[in-house]
Amino acid sequence: MTGSATSTLHLGDRFARDLPELALPWQAEDATDPNLLVLNEALATELGLDPDWLRSPDGVRLLVGAALPEGAAPVAQAYAGHQFGNYSPRLGDGRALLLGEFVDPAGHLHDLHLKGSGRTPFARGGDGLAAVGPMLREYVISEAMHALGIPTTRALAVTATGEHVFRETVLPGAVLARVASSHLRVGTFSYARATGDLELLRRLADHAIVRHHPEAASAERPHLALLEAVVSAQAELVARWMLVGFVHGVMNTDNVTISGETIDYGPCAFMEVYDPATVFSSIDAGGRYAYGNQPGIAQWNLVRLAEALLPLLGADQPQAVAVAQEALSGFVGHYNRAWTAGVRAKLGLADEVPVEVVTAVADDLLTLLHEGHVDWTSFFRALGTAARGDVEPARSSVLDLTGIDGWTRRWRALGPDADAMDRVNPVYVPRNHLVEQALSAASDAVDLGPLRQLLVAVRDPYTARPGLERFAEPAPTEFGAYRTFCGT
Ligand code: AMP
Ligand code: MG
Repeated sequence: MTGSATSTLHLGDRFARDLPELALPWQAEDATDPNLLVLNEALATELGLDPDWLRSPDGVRLLVGAALPEGAAPVAQAYAGHQFGNYSPRLGDGRALLLGEFVDPAGHLHDLHLKGSGRTPFARGGDGLAAVGPMLREYVISEAMHALGIPTTRALAVTATGEHVFRETVLPGAVLARVASSHLRVGTFSYARATGDLELLRRLADHAIVRHHPEAASAERPHLALLEAVVSAQAELVARWMLVGFVHGVMNTDNVTISGETIDYGPCAFMEVYDPATVFSSIDAGGRYAYGNQPGIAQWNLVRLAEALLPLLGADQPQAVAVAQEALSGFVGHYNRAWTAGVRAKLGLADEVPVEVVTAVADDLLTLLHEGHVDWTSFFRALGTAARGDVEPARSSVLDLTGIDGWTRRWRALGPDADAMDRVNPVYVPRNHLVEQALSAASDAVDLGPLRQLLVAVRDPYTARPGLERFAEPAPTEFGAYRTFCGT
């Protein structure tokens, strides 16, 4: 133990003990000159961690993995993954470490994890490092997602390491400290399955049940119930992404959690103009992970989970396949229910309005938004104003005025509730031009002001506040077609 206050933090090794085959003991690389850039004080407090201590030299050393509480046994986790459809049998934490698990004051177990903490045996050709910009991107976008009510891993801190990271240019290095309900992924199951060790696969499935889907333990067939629970969690998660216009950008199976939390904010971004073909990632030239493809890709990823679980699902292969298909087919129902409930809320429509009416009204609106190149976030917020009687802000953003007038009459006749709409249609999402400004200021000039201001806006997304108008506006046209580069 280094420093007295760490004694309050106990980092357990449950993952490593339950699944030693998937846990490679490893240490973080030394950071020469660690400098805490941002600390998530609200999260720290919620988790029972002392923010003042985390800011102290010993706290900062914990946040880069240099000084751990006694008994901590950090590991790099092994996993496989289908990347853009191609199977990689051995990915694993190439530049990340699970420091251990801790219990918060409410009794919930969390992983404390580092990203950018140096090469591990899984690093392949990578340098094991991360740059300040992408780590702050994960920080701000995951904070926005959490504030929007979307399940996500959380960023606890970003610490500059004082090292240089060589990308297209030389960039300042950083370590992200992240908290998650676990880092179990679809790719973890693919890896366990590929070892051919069925006892390991069973132990992994049982570990996942205890941590994330405990109700599955008492089901008639617990491993099938686990698959069903992940199908349902992922269907709901992706529906929520769709409702806010979030494009993950790299929905490889190593980035799909068993918990149903959003993970790994690499080339992700929020869509401005509504278009199902929206892609931001420079490496996604084919548009595999485009906005509108996300529900279909989630299904594809869940098929990979089912394949890995097959030996646990039935006495023989045909029976297991039939059972798995049945569970996978549940995705569409879960997704449609979550999407329709969300769209109903966005349109302010009461439960009495029949589902078919909600879907028809929503579909027609999507056509108008697509044809009119309308900004997703600000349109829905303006629709709240339209529900109060002032249709102009929403109307003026749509090209087809006859179309939107007819649509608005039809929708208003259904009695939308404007206040309810304002509670679900955000004013502020982390818009791409603002994220870029904030990251460049932080990375190039160590100016964290723009990042802090952006955080103020996105941490309270539903409350319009004077002085924050520019955070609600779409990017200026000169910002152009936005491209993100993989979060390395
Ligand atoms: P990601 O696309 O960030 O989810 O990462 C995919 C895989 O590449 C994971 O196995 C990472 O650990 C690994 N990886 C990404 N960047 C690096 C890096 N700079 N050094 C080592 N491994 C990396
Ligand atoms: Mg990843």
